[in-house]
Amino acid sequence: MIVVMKPGATKDQVRHVVGLVREFGLKEHIIEGTDRTVVACIGDKRMVEKDAIENAPMVERIVPILAPYKMASLEVRQSRSVFEIGPQRFPLGAARVGVIAGPCSVESRDQILRTAEAVKESGCIGLRGGAFKPRTSPYAFQGLGSKGLAILAEAREKTGLAIVTEVIGLEQLDEVAEVSDVLQIGARNMQHYPLLEAVGKVRKPVLLKRGMSARLDEFLLAAEYIINAGNNQVILCERGIRTFEEYCRNTLCLTAVPALNEMTHLPVVVDPSHGTGHAHFVPPLCRAAVAAGADGLILECHPDPEHASSDGAQSVTPAVLSDLMNQLHRVARAIDRDL
Ligand code: PEP
Ligand code: MN
Repeated sequence: MIVVMKPGATKDQVRHVVGLVREFGLKEHIIEGTDRTVVACIGDKRMVEKDAIENAPMVERIVPILAPYKMASLEVRQSRSVFEIGPQRFPLGAARVGVIAGPCSVESRDQILRTAEAVKESGCIGLRGGAFKPRTSPYAFQGLGSKGLAILAEAREKTGLAIVTEVIGLEQLDEVAEVSDVLQIGARNMQHYPLLEAVGKVRKPVLLKRGMSARLDEFLLAAEYIINAGNNQVILCERGIRTFEEYCRNTLCLTAVPALNEMTHLPVVVDPSHGTGHAHFVPPLCRAAVAAGADGLILECHPDPEHASSDGAQSVTPAVLSDLMNQLHRVARAIDRDL
């Protein structure tokens, strides 16, 4: 349920409500809006004497949260969440669309530094690259691990780009959280609940990728695990789902963009690289994602896709990225946004 305070309620009056909420065994999340504060209360509401809270000073009303994903829902927070990303504090979720690009995997210092320069030059806000890779086959390249993280840290130092890299398990979390500006949780781990709770304890934005067969409500419930553990900075990433279609690697579900925008206040980012599996599909689907209202894009870019250790077929070159960014500027402006 949500306790809506009257405009002008003082901090002490909010604290008083929080005290009551806790007495009834619920957990509170305080959300300060522009004109009023609301206290979202999570837990077993059957234990609550609503009257006691409703009659507290400056409480306007109590409303139930109907969505199963409580904290992620628009019922709790009507204004869109905006998170500051990386050293430049790019406001993701606001008017400008943020683009993150980089290779699937960190392969070498030279590859990352070259890519980072190009990515920065083209106007992107972040550099992606996996140091720890969740591969379908145990025989495929598994990533450079800690060495890869050190290379990403150097690229961040040199370019000021935000680093987005994946954490695949609890064991690597501290190490990845030290270097990464945004912690990526991959599609395969969307339902790794202990990992979601663990990144919920980190004070950094989390890019949560949609599981390959996850419905949107399941996706939002996964986000809820992170928020409920204490980290409200969750960025949702649509990266394509499994369907009967085999022409593309996955079916990029662009409907998820407007759908999520009416279900949640969290920013939505689209990954057309994993979403399609083919580099030539990436530019048109980036354009479509921006037109559909995505707050950001994350795509794979490699200086030499033919020799990439992973996902070369879906990686665009720096030259294609640069052209694409120019097109995206125009698409963003057509819908009153910018890049
Ligand atoms: C990736 O971003 O390289 C990746 C493994 O993505 P996903 O989890 O969407 O498959
Ligand atoms: Mn990849």
